[in-house]
Amino acid sequence: MIGHCLCRRVRIEIPGTPDGIGICNCRLCRSSGAAWGYFDPAEVKVDGDVAGYSREDLDDPWLVLHFCPRCGATTHYTASGAHPLDRIGVNTRLFVQDELDGVAVSYQDGRCVFDEDDEFIETGTGHIGDGKAF
Ligand SMILES: [Zn+2]
Ligand SMILES: [Zn+2]
Repeated sequence: MIGHCLCRRVRIEIPGTPDGIGICNCRLCRSSGAAWGYFDPAEVKVDGDVAGYSREDLDDPWLVLHFCPRCGATTHYTASGAHPLDRIGVNTRLFVQDELDGVAVSYQDGRCVFDEDDEFIETGTGHIGDGKAF
């Protein structure tokens, strides 16, 4: 599947629909506007220039948010150096909604997560195309 940022200068390719989409209420996720699909980093191809941002209000920010420097759309996140992850998050809102029909959505309470030992709490579920706005 192929998606683009708003101005279409960044193209992002994923191998298919994600196993699930996570919508989280932590400051990073809400500010980014992203609905995350998770992939092995080797499966994701990003073409075009992106800028990166890591939170400056945390000693250990974990993630680098990537976005189009022209239109500002969040494209994906990667792990910061100290926290290698076997998956990255891709903003599924950059893909055609109809192509995501049926993918499970999990609404997560990320505000309660402060360190790696904390669990994300799922507050609701749905599916793309089930009539709820996405
Ligand atoms: Zn753009
Ligand atoms: Zn979050």
